[in-house]
Amino acid sequence: MNTYHSLKESDKAAYDALKGEMKREEQGLELIASENTVSPAVLDALGSVFTNKYSEGYPGRRYYGGQEYTDIIETLAIDRVKELFGSEHANVQPLSGASANLAAYAAVLAPGDTVLGMDLSHGGHLTHGHPVTLPAKVYRFIRYKTEADGTIDYDKLEALAVLEHPKLMLAGFSSYTRQIDYERFTAIAAKVGAITMMDMAHIAGMIAGKALPSPVPHFDIVTATTHKTLRGPRGGLILCKEPFAKAIDKAVFPGVQGGPHMHMVLAKAVAFGEALRPEFEVYARQILTNAKALEESFIGLGYEIVFGTTENHMLLIDTVKSRNVTGKDAEAWLDLASITVNKNVLPDDPRGPLDPSGIRIGVPAVTTRGMKEDEMRMIAGWIDSVLRSEGKKKILSGIRKEVKTLCKSFPIYH
Ligand SMILES: *Cc1c(COP(=O)(O)O)cnc(C)c1O
Repeated sequence: MNTYHSLKESDKAAYDALKGEMKREEQGLELIASENTVSPAVLDALGSVFTNKYSEGYPGRRYYGGQEYTDIIETLAIDRVKELFGSEHANVQPLSGASANLAAYAAVLAPGDTVLGMDLSHGGHLTHGHPVTLPAKVYRFIRYKTEADGTIDYDKLEALAVLEHPKLMLAGFSSYTRQIDYERFTAIAAKVGAITMMDMAHIAGMIAGKALPSPVPHFDIVTATTHKTLRGPRGGLILCKEPFAKAIDKAVFPGVQGGPHMHMVLAKAVAFGEALRPEFEVYARQILTNAKALEESFIGLGYEIVFGTTENHMLLIDTVKSRNVTGKDAEAWLDLASITVNKNVLPDDPRGPLDPSGIRIGVPAVTTRGMKEDEMRMIAGWIDSVLRSEGKKKILSGIRKEVKTLCKSFPIYH
């Protein structure tokens, strides 16, 4: 028989790495736009015995016995997320954003069908048709771009749609900072008879918290990740209008996945419950306020803000133009100062993805810690000092100490 031993008692190597990561998160500034810090309740759910259970199928229609509690938690997650976004149907089983998108494509497309999606260097995600991905080999992706002022030219998009006759028109992004005009986008799709899909992975939490307009009433299918601004476990989600419900569920299981990860479904239910509380709206609004404060500070310091401005939780900065530092150096130097960001390609970046021209900075995780406008100004100042440091170790370790001191006042798990 198994006796329960904690990780600390049973596996020193694994436990030490876990302690190290906890310390890293506690003592550093997490500014990766796709990351967040989940609640202890979400962590409890993820570390629960639901990881033991196989539950292929959907509530009330499973292929294995012993489902009295899995049915309860999956129904809870579905009901809560439908309430949160006002959607007609929800599938909470996708293991990640990529598998949610794969299933959504599989639900409505046949091989060879045409999809309009946003170009990667203009803010779109890999899964929106980048040539290195499987969907790009199965479907015909045509990619649209942003204009020099950072906006999307909808007349141009309409002309492209008329020319290419897409079966699916895909909106959504992972490094774009402007608001999409959902009405205009879906009107274009209606004109050419395309199905509409929005991938709200990055901004799902801001939409849930009513800080940004919702695409859900406008689009046939809306996919998301649950771990970015939505502040839940690592995972995916698909919302859709009723006529697409059956196809979506079949495409997730058995189409592209096997058994759902029920510990993750429990954690999603918990996170959706948290997002339904009034405090979450305060959180979502503060993300927007913090992003604006950070942007103002960078503009004051003379930085080049990509796409003109931000209307969500992230900023893209052209570090080459602003400080003559590449994205790769900026990321590495900031790491040494305990400030975590990612290097990012900029629209039609002349440099490659491994050493692009800029960085992406997001505020969801530091906002979760309780940081506000004053801290954003400090953060912009530190980032500027790092970019001016020429990578000098002494300067970077000095900033690292200041960062650690600030982080002490904003504990994560206490
Ligand atoms: C993050 C993201 C995804 C992929 O999510 P994973 O969980 O990493 O697979 C898909 N689409 C968009 C727009 C994203 O930002």
